[in-house]
Amino acid sequence: MSGVHLLSWIESANHPAGHFPLANLPYGVFSRQGEASRCGVALGDMVVDLAALEAAGLLGLDGPPVFDQPALNDFMARGREAWEAARSRLTALFAATGDPLLREDPGLRAKVILPVASVVMHLPFKVAGYTDFYSGRHHAENVGTMFRGSDNALPPNWLSLPIGYNGRASTVVVGGTQIRRPWGQIKPSGADLPVFAPSRRLDIELELGAVVGTPSQMGVPISVAEAAETIFGYVLLNDWSARDIQAWEYQPLGPFQAKAFATSISPWVVTAAALAPFRVDTPPRERELLPYLDEPGPMLYDIDLEVLMQPTGAEHPTVISRTNYREMYYSAPQQLAHHASSGCRMETGDLLGSGTISGATRESRGSLLELSWGGKEPLTLSTGESRSFIEDGDTMTLTGWAQGDGYRIGFGACVGTMLPALERKDI
Ligand code: CA
Repeated sequence: MSGVHLLSWIESANHPAGHFPLANLPYGVFSRQGEASRCGVALGDMVVDLAALEAAGLLGLDGPPVFDQPALNDFMARGREAWEAARSRLTALFAATGDPLLREDPGLRAKVILPVASVVMHLPFKVAGYTDFYSGRHHAENVGTMFRGSDNALPPNWLSLPIGYNGRASTVVVGGTQIRRPWGQIKPSGADLPVFAPSRRLDIELELGAVVGTPSQMGVPISVAEAAETIFGYVLLNDWSARDIQAWEYQPLGPFQAKAFATSISPWVVTAAALAPFRVDTPPRERELLPYLDEPGPMLYDIDLEVLMQPTGAEHPTVISRTNYREMYYSAPQQLAHHASSGCRMETGDLLGSGTISGATRESRGSLLELSWGGKEPLTLSTGESRSFIEDGDTMTLTGWAQGDGYRIGFGACVGTMLPALERKDI
């Protein structure tokens, strides 16, 4: 099942390889020069100004306006009924054979439909909390093998629960934001004690982020089925990681400064509704899960993913990894149900990183640490340059899409360029 390619009277939305057809309608926050930030959806190479549509009375949502704001949180908090109402109204307004109200009103069209090239994208929602999981089996085995040896690659709890830790919401940034190489404690190999220095093993992690729409109550767990209902959508997520800082600091409480300096997400949130036709099962369970983690149906998605790397001055990026979200062992609803299982309250705008998405083959690994096997097998880029980790000026791009029959539900891109470490004279 791959859904339907709904045609729009916005011609650019009908291109078979485009990321933003009418069946997608991903939400974001944008502004134009001198104007306030507000919510929009992507359609072909246009942005639909939802605040303008709402002000014109064309969206028909109950209650006070939600789209004339610099974040999607109020809309997300409204819950599934409102999400479905907005989606069906937008589909009717923009379908090739739909409601002529907007299509036949040139004045209104000019106000509502803006070329994406004329806008700046912002962080799409206020991030309430950021939790990062570790639910890719190939990634966990690869990293475990490098950090602890192949006998202890998978921790004993890994097949029973989605391992996670509480990351930083304060440094989640929208794709396009430049990233500063971090300083940190690093223990050089062979040394007894650490030094404080800029990271030299700077990496990406290819992940998908699930965005919580409706909150849960403190003290009250939620089922996997309930968790699935509260997820508003998904973003591409780059969990920037300083491997040399991580290797020294991570035991016993997990990564800290190695991952706290930045996390990038794509500007567009692709809704769970748009991805619904692409649902797939999680892999067979090697160990039976406890009943609270049982899935009532397929909860992963078939989403093709790519990582591209482009050094300064290079004309083209090199695709360094191709993989798929269906490689995950635990789904986002399972992660969310586990997160709330103690009674932890989940909030509108909580962001759940899937964990690095690596496939079984070398070409499908979702981090440079794995691709270069800890620096022992550097990659060769199309420019002839070699890379084990990220150099200053390198641009890293994540992209992905669910492939339908003649159309794609795309995520656009999540881009970040590495700036040199700050000069520090105080140390
Ligand atoms: Ca991660």
